[in-house]
Amino acid sequence: MPCYRCGVRQTDPERGKSPWRRGVVRDRLVLICPACQESTDWTAELEHCAQCRSAHLIRRLGQVECLDCGLVREPEASLVPVRGPDSPAGDPDPADATLADEVGRALDRLLGRH
Ligand SMILES: [Zn+2]
Ligand SMILES: [Zn+2]
Repeated sequence: MPCYRCGVRQTDPERGKSPWRRGVVRDRLVLICPACQESTDWTAELEHCAQCRSAHLIRRLGQVECLDCGLVREPEASLVPVRGPDSPAGDPDPADATLADEVGRALDRLLGRH
């Protein structure tokens, strides 16, 4: 996997820890090369942990896990369907509730209930 910023290919270090850092951008696991880590804002585009604000996140099995504090974000958060600006997320459509109410009352009248 190449560096997501500059596209340079990862070269495996002979031994020891890789200087490359992992991160999550828009729910995708990415790698950042050591050169790009020199820039001060290299974590700006990365997702940050909701708990400790660390950018040291990895994505696995559909979950995003913080490597610093261990917080795991469940995949549901990213599975919410994207809605258009004219259909904001929120409570169920009130028109449906009103309709159900009227149908119920009509049925009551029909069946002679009060
Ligand atoms: Zn890079
Ligand atoms: Zn964390």
